Amino acid sequence: VVTEAGHAGDGFGAELVAALGDKVLHGDPDAMTAYVRDQCLIVPAGTPGWVVRARSQADVEVTLTLAERHGIRVVTRGAGTGLAGGANAEDGCVVLSLAMMSRILDIDPVARTARVEAGVLNGDLDAAAAAHGLAYLPDPGSRAISSIGGNIATNAGGMCCTKYGVTGDHVAELSVVLAGGRVLRTGSRTRKNVSGLDLTRLFVGSEGTLGVITEATVWLHPRPAAGSTVVAVFASVERAVAAVSALTLEVAPSVAEIMDSTTLAAVDQMSAMGISGVGAVLLLRCDGPAAVIEADRCEQIAAQFGATETFRTDDESEGAALMEARRLALPALERLGATLLDDVAVPVHRLPALIRGVQAISASRKVTVATFGHAADGNMHPTVVYDPADHQAAERARAAFEDILALAIDLGGVLSGEHGIGVLKRDRLSLQLDEVSLEVMASIKRSLDPLGSLNPGRAY
Ligand SMILES: Cc1cc2nc3c(=O)[nH]c(=O)nc-3n(C[C@H](O)[C@H](O)[C@H](O)COP(=O)(O)OP(=O)(O)OC[C@H]3O[C@@H](n4cnc5c(N)ncnc54)[C@H](O)[C@@H]3O)c2cc1C
Repeated sequence: VVTEAGHAGDGFGAELVAALGDKVLHGDPDAMTAYVRDQCLIVPAGTPGWVVRARSQADVEVTLTLAERHGIRVVTRGAGTGLAGGANAEDGCVVLSLAMMSRILDIDPVARTARVEAGVLNGDLDAAAAAHGLAYLPDPGSRAISSIGGNIATNAGGMCCTKYGVTGDHVAELSVVLAGGRVLRTGSRTRKNVSGLDLTRLFVGSEGTLGVITEATVWLHPRPAAGSTVVAVFASVERAVAAVSALTLEVAPSVAEIMDSTTLAAVDQMSAMGISGVGAVLLLRCDGPAAVIEADRCEQIAAQFGATETFRTDDESEGAALMEARRLALPALERLGATLLDDVAVPVHRLPALIRGVQAISASRKVTVATFGHAADGNMHPTVVYDPADHQAAERARAAFEDILALAIDLGGVLSGEHGIGVLKRDRLSLQLDEVSLEVMASIKRSLDPLGSLNPGRAY
């Protein structure tokens, strides 16, 4: 059993400071505030006893060695942009921040790999790869502000997963410091590797519960050639989803985003883009050498499936302006009230049922719910909007959020497509996973972290 901070913690603090000096923050609540929680504001966060701003893997090893010796819990933190409370501190813990481990150690344009420290920001890595004509393709909306370590720990998605995959598809090797300070190296730089269990994948999406990722080797790719963008307007979400299902049989759009009428109304209110009063809009992008031909086909198929209007551009800046409507979805909804952003995924053919079900939940709970997301992945972000000053409205919003999770499971889906379980959904995991799955996960956790000191209070 791991002890709370106390006398043991005092000895811990002294040894920690002796080893790491001013990399340790302690007793200065103002300085520590920035390390207390992530971007999910609805789950609680505790007050850490210490914050370690690691600058090297050795600092991480020292922290985990001392933490285990003194029975102190550790919460790992990347850039703190998570949306599930995964990096939220608990009382008396050490928050271990990797943000200052932000060196790009090596880019090998021949092998098409980059070796980076965990705190490197996604966008910075992509910019460095661009200097070699290469790209780091995983593109969460937070790419300018989120870390590679956090992206790997959450298996972050984004808009281009339908063509380029999720973060985990781009990870070749990891260095991980385990509870107690041992260093584990996983993976290889070969394209194929079936020697032993795939421990790299085990840490992808493990949300800091199994070990601290300090370094990663990731795959780079040729930079996709400029793209074409298609906007297709539909009278209903059913037609829009049918069009996506049909067109992905023939072409591989890099982006296939959908926005429902509630989302469109909010975006229009914010930006006057003139796209409200319709059932749904699809935003499609095709890139690479066949982009123009593929975009033509997207337009034709959208029309076959009843698009009332399509607009197409092969101009990059015009395309970026159109994609802006999607990027404005959440900020536009946030102007209307407090928001509870969900992140469920269902098999793509169940998307109409998900969106209809969400509309029914919105009506029965008497709250606004706007749905937008990654149509080709079946990964939606139904967002409950409510007045935070109205206590009853806040309760109805929370109930609607829970209803949406249950609906996704009923439709054969999952509780989270890309944001993770964190603290937000830790009590709901059994909705999706059976007892055997939960027990196997718990036993993996026990074997890697027997004292349960890494990211405590999460699902396992
Ligand atoms: C504006 C905005 C847009 C977003 N868009 C997307 C999107 O399109 N797709 C998407 O998937 N997410 C998105 N997110 C959510 C968030 O950016 C991702 O979950 C991201 O991967 C978190 O990275 P981070 O460095 O901020 O991690 P943190 O928030 O610091 O941590 C996230 C989790 O990972 C663990 N962790 C962090 N670093 C490490 C490490 N080195 N070793 C072990 N565990 C670690 C933490 O303990 C925590 O459980 C968005 C967030 C915002 C604010």
